[in-house]
Amino acid sequence: MERPLLMIPGPIEVSPAVVAAVDGPPPGHLAPAFVEAMGRAITGLRGFFGGAEGTLPVIAAGSGTVAMDMAVANVVGPGDRALLVNTGYFSARLGEMLRRRRVEVVELEADCGECPEPAAVGTLLARGSFDALCATHVDTSTGVRVDVEALAGLAREAGTLSLFDGVCAAAAERVDMAAWGVDVYLTGSQKAVGLPAGLALVLASPAALSRRGGLAEPPPLSLDWQAWAPIMEAYEQGRPSYFSTPATNLVAGLDASLNELAAARWGGHEGRDAVFARHADVAAALRQVWAQLGLRMLPAREEITASTLSAILYPEGVGPELVKAIGAAGVVVAGGLYPGRQGDYFRVGHMGHSTTQPDHLERLVRAVATGLRECGHGADPDAAARTLHGALPH
Ligand SMILES: *Cc1c(COP(=O)(O)O)cnc(C)c1O
Repeated sequence: MERPLLMIPGPIEVSPAVVAAVDGPPPGHLAPAFVEAMGRAITGLRGFFGGAEGTLPVIAAGSGTVAMDMAVANVVGPGDRALLVNTGYFSARLGEMLRRRRVEVVELEADCGECPEPAAVGTLLARGSFDALCATHVDTSTGVRVDVEALAGLAREAGTLSLFDGVCAAAAERVDMAAWGVDVYLTGSQKAVGLPAGLALVLASPAALSRRGGLAEPPPLSLDWQAWAPIMEAYEQGRPSYFSTPATNLVAGLDASLNELAAARWGGHEGRDAVFARHADVAAALRQVWAQLGLRMLPAREEITASTLSAILYPEGVGPELVKAIGAAGVVVAGGLYPGRQGDYFRVGHMGHSTTQPDHLERLVRAVATGLRECGHGADPDAAARTLHGALPH
């Protein structure tokens, strides 16, 4: 039988170029080819996320959660106040990290599948004196996307630092750090960035870096931007440097992935514009398929629905057995994650390499339709595939 296709919200299917780049014996962290790949990846990350010249990209071994800890620990400390826009499971994790750092957290929480209005965030920011505004770009538990441009703009107006968890958004949803006033943006390697798991990626604006300089209580050493900054600067200038061993195979993969992102073409767009347009178009095409199959999305409105995953409510009479049935049809999808609502919906990832592969998308929609049929909900895999191909731009 064919290897099952991995269509969960990370890890994801990765491109053959990335597989080739991460394959093989580990390069040394001082090897000339590695130094070059690291240098290109650092410059490439700053460019892809629209960071200003003084923006520091940190590429460290770790998970998305490590990237979140790094971001939090470098910009706030005991006694600081943070406003947290809470759109689900991963926002709650951000809140836990802030509290462990003894930060006073004010939460603006949305119902499951909803997102607070930016105006409500603006009102709170204007009223309280906050040291940071924190939000999850796409909360993977709900498939809800916040408006990063609006939130960062409000934070900038209020003189508050802004921090976004972009683990399930980066390299799929648009971010323009300098233009939008985003101070900290972070991700992990195994989602839309398109690598295996294992890299924590954090970008810090000049304002975020100077905030670190003023912290009374430093972050744990392994997460400290002051320890990482000279290392990243050295690599970017083509000089090897050592603080903590980088995941060398994965950095080679990151270099390959950033090259692919820069070379992307879609509907007359190039580079990152093409990447963002492709994810939006694929997500819209899949939404047409879900609708044709009689399925409804968890996110309350289309404007707040992510392009990286679909959180889909189980239809009447169907439950979590659907995830197993889709798996038996050859595609791995994920169950629900929002506390208390896990049994109400399932999640399908559509990011990175698979968005460039119509056959992956066809296998996905056929498997969902087949799974539905197995679970007693009438569905036609051929019709689902026709809807998909009719909805994808040609
Ligand atoms: C996956 C994810 C994380 C956690 O990343 P790990 O690599 O599993 O630690 C954090 N935030 C969001 C939004 C995610 O989707």
